[in-house]
Amino acid sequence: MSKKSDPFCDKKSIETQIYYETKYMNVLYNLYPVVKGHTLIVPKRHVRDLNELSEKEAVDLIKAIRYVTPKLLRAYNADSSYNLVAQVGPYSGRSIEHLHIHIIPRNKYDMYSDYNDRLYADLRKFELEKLAKHKIEPEVEKLRKIFKYKPSAK
Ligand SMILES: [Zn+2]
Repeated sequence: MSKKSDPFCDKKSIETQIYYETKYMNVLYNLYPVVKGHTLIVPKRHVRDLNELSEKEAVDLIKAIRYVTPKLLRAYNADSSYNLVAQVGPYSGRSIEHLHIHIIPRNKYDMYSDYNDRLYADLRKFELEKLAKHKIEPEVEKLRKIFKYKPSAK
């Protein structure tokens, strides 16, 4: 698999998106967010499936989700609502063959609240069509402050 199709194994290519990390996980702002705050939790080690995670990595993943989600929802006024999504396996619609868990903050006024299926349709194609390509830097900066994350100097 080429570097181009697996940016999650190439820290250089995702470093502008990372706003928090744990021992085993990178937490990053999605390059093509379907809503503001659209976050990915990505194991640092290359795995394709939850079941390839070690016990320690699996615990770290759940802890990261539980730590990040409430702060993320507060940052985007998300009404205690979110979608937790992963596409795993060749027929799931995944775009990158490296496990990543989407955390998608939701609120009453988001563009999908009336029609939930649209979000999943968009999720499937957003990488291809570069949907909703917001400028993400201000969002990453905002979240880095909340999570007190300092990117390592190179
Ligand atoms: Zn990888």
